[in-house]
Amino acid sequence: MFDAAVMGAGPAGTAAAFVLLEKGLKVLLLDKYEFPRKKACAGGITPKGYHLFPYDISPVIKRECRTIRITPPGSTPFHIQDQNILCHMTRREELDLFSLERVMGKGAHFKVIKRIHSICEKNHFVEIDAGSDLFKASYLIGADGANSIVRRFAAKGRFWQKQTAIEADVRLDRPENHPMEFDFSRLKNGYFWIFPKDDHVNIGIYSYGSRAGLQTRQLIEYAGKKLSSHRLESVRGYPICTGGVHYRPESSRILLCGDAAGFAEPLLGEGIYFAVKSGREAAFAILEAAETGPPSARRMYMKKLKEIQTDLRLYRAGAGFLYRFPRVSLKLLSFPYIHDPFARGYAQGKPLNRILTGNMFGKNNP
Ligand SMILES: Cc1cc2nc3c(=O)[nH]c(=O)nc-3n(C[C@H](O)[C@H](O)[C@H](O)COP(=O)(O)OP(=O)(O)OC[C@H]3O[C@@H](n4cnc5c(N)ncnc54)[C@H](O)[C@@H]3O)c2cc1C
Repeated sequence: MFDAAVMGAGPAGTAAAFVLLEKGLKVLLLDKYEFPRKKACAGGITPKGYHLFPYDISPVIKRECRTIRITPPGSTPFHIQDQNILCHMTRREELDLFSLERVMGKGAHFKVIKRIHSICEKNHFVEIDAGSDLFKASYLIGADGANSIVRRFAAKGRFWQKQTAIEADVRLDRPENHPMEFDFSRLKNGYFWIFPKDDHVNIGIYSYGSRAGLQTRQLIEYAGKKLSSHRLESVRGYPICTGGVHYRPESSRILLCGDAAGFAEPLLGEGIYFAVKSGREAAFAILEAAETGPPSARRMYMKKLKEIQTDLRLYRAGAGFLYRFPRVSLKLLSFPYIHDPFARGYAQGKPLNRILTGNMFGKNNP
């Protein structure tokens, strides 16, 4: 019997496991794959996410970006800059292996399971039937991503939505010649990106709205035009799960976090920060509930999710405005007195709600 089982060893799962292990809990970490494994993700980590990792992830950072180029539809590109880092670039297979090694170093029991047959909440524990293995744990954290299996067993109503993104790597002689870029000029309700890494750039398309119909062909054409290359490697598409503003834990022993709970933001599709943050909060809720009993894990988690859900509401409003009025909103963003406070706040690692209530209105909110 484990104190906690964590399904999924991505950023949400390893963040949750690390907190529990630090407090001496016996933790089982389950994943569908052996690591390292590929994960569709551009690997951009904003400073607020970077500083949330409880260990130094600089060994897996490939580039640090202080400039972001934005291309609006129908007008000239502009740049957002800060003296501090605006985004850290990693490769997800390396980051996730690095994190898994950190939690295994703390004593996590890691097991690869191919299929979940059932997840059953009993009075005093949760039972996970994985065919040849039957696991029991006091709590289960569902951190198994956008297509979560745990969510299927633990959530009755549909609260989440799926956005779509496709990405690929393009090897270039001088990737550093390309700034980090968001290009809104070639796609309705979405954007193309270029994220520079050490020996390649990662390119991709994000579409806001589930009926995206994104195609690899669009990415090949984009690479041809922007990078003069058609040699795309590791082309991968995957959903990004949003809608976590509506997530309410329904069970006292099963908590969802990261994409499983719809905790990616819909504006640009950032999810790593929210995954780490919510994974940690789920673990803290379990630790605090150890004194008072399981119903309070759910209550405590709901309280702890307030900041995440406030931020996600703001991103949702921002996405609604941006994709409805892209020209107007990007025109506004192009003015330095609008984008500078955002850049400063981002570079200082602040979540959106604190940027808006602090910097934007001139308050000194650390
Ligand atoms: C193309 C693309 C680009 C993106 N780029 C960025 C970016 O640059 N920056 C950013 O912040 N976000 C980005 N995102 C979003 C980000 O990848 C996710 O929000 C983030 O990975 C969520 O973390 P997670 O731990 O919740 O889930 P995941 O990272 O998806 O991890 C889930 C884990 O669960 C495992 N799993 C899945 N199913 C099962 C199962 N049935 N049983 C056991 N284990 C299972 C998986 O193998 C995986 O290890 C991108 C997403 C996509 C699709």
